Amino acid sequence: MITEILICSRLTRRFGKRLAVDGVSLTLAPGRITALLGPSGCGKSTLLRLIAGLEPLDDGEILYGETLIASPAEALPPERRRIGLVFQDHALFPHLSVRDNVAFGLAGRPRAERHEITARWLTRVGLGDRGRDWPHQLSGGQQQRVALARALAPAPRAVLLDEPFSSLDAHLRGEVRQDIAGALRDAGTAALVVTHDARDAMLMADDLILMDRGQVLQAGSPEACYARPASLDAARLLGDIEVIAGERRDGRVETPLGRFEARGSNGACRLMFRPEALRLDPQGVEAQVTAVAYGGAASEVRLKVGEAGATLIAAPGRLTVGETVRVRLDPAAVRLLD
Ligand code: ADP
Ligand code: MG
Repeated sequence: MITEILICSRLTRRFGKRLAVDGVSLTLAPGRITALLGPSGCGKSTLLRLIAGLEPLDDGEILYGETLIASPAEALPPERRRIGLVFQDHALFPHLSVRDNVAFGLAGRPRAERHEITARWLTRVGLGDRGRDWPHQLSGGQQQRVALARALAPAPRAVLLDEPFSSLDAHLRGEVRQDIAGALRDAGTAALVVTHDARDAMLMADDLILMDRGQVLQAGSPEACYARPASLDAARLLGDIEVIAGERRDGRVETPLGRFEARGSNGACRLMFRPEALRLDPQGVEAQVTAVAYGGAASEVRLKVGEAGATLIAAPGRLTVGETVRVRLDPAAVRLLD
């Protein structure tokens, strides 16, 4: 239903001459998780603060369905936007029990209802038996789950999470990521999760937004952004990318890794592809192994192909330096640059 969609259009925020958020548009719909990925300093937190109402808009507008929530001229205060927030850390009130933390946003409701909603949310995040504890008695991951329960309990229009995993140890991240994604899907609330970790973003997102220097580089499904990056900058945000130069003539590009179809005018051009698009193949082009780096599940093998270099992802122990191999680049995975 259009009436339940949070529509952000051309959101803009300046600090002095610096454009921290530069015309960002996005929509948040119930039951969908949108992940916002970008490097540190690109404007992610500022964008969240604009949506939550903690920062005024210099341009653009926010609508909930057809109702105006914010524009440079008029803005609902944060407490009337009904938008939940979860921050990276220091999220809970230390002097309130876990239960009272979750009940915090329910002030003004009848006591029985407050209890019922709080118990339901604590159970949903797997902490039904920890209501009487103090925040410091919980692990970092448990505290983040309480913070999420607190944000979701008042049934917000949307919940915004600012780097919710970045203060957690690596071994906890995966589990907390799944718990939080599960609770969000369960709740059916529109969610915007900010992260600077490509893996977190892709694993959680229904919709992915790639951001850099205040602007959206690309928006789409994780699969589309990964496999069909809109630019080299967008491609790099999601993982390693290889670039190879070639010569285009009559719709085809000649490269050391083979000939690929690419529309456009004749002349020099560049192609990009993910390293896993290059595979060992007896029918492929010849290449020399120049370096092998062990990486656990897979090794990164550096190849020399004619005058060009390329990286091959290979099973560990399979290839050695100096060896000659044959490789093939999947034409469907090759994208034209420039
Ligand atoms: P991110 O969350 O992606 O790391 P931020 O939104 O925190 O990025 O910051 C974006 C840019 O805006 C940064 O260059 C930051 O220094 C600047 N910035 C953020 N908040 C303020 C502020 N209150 N005053 C001045 N500059 C700010
Ligand atoms: Mg930030």
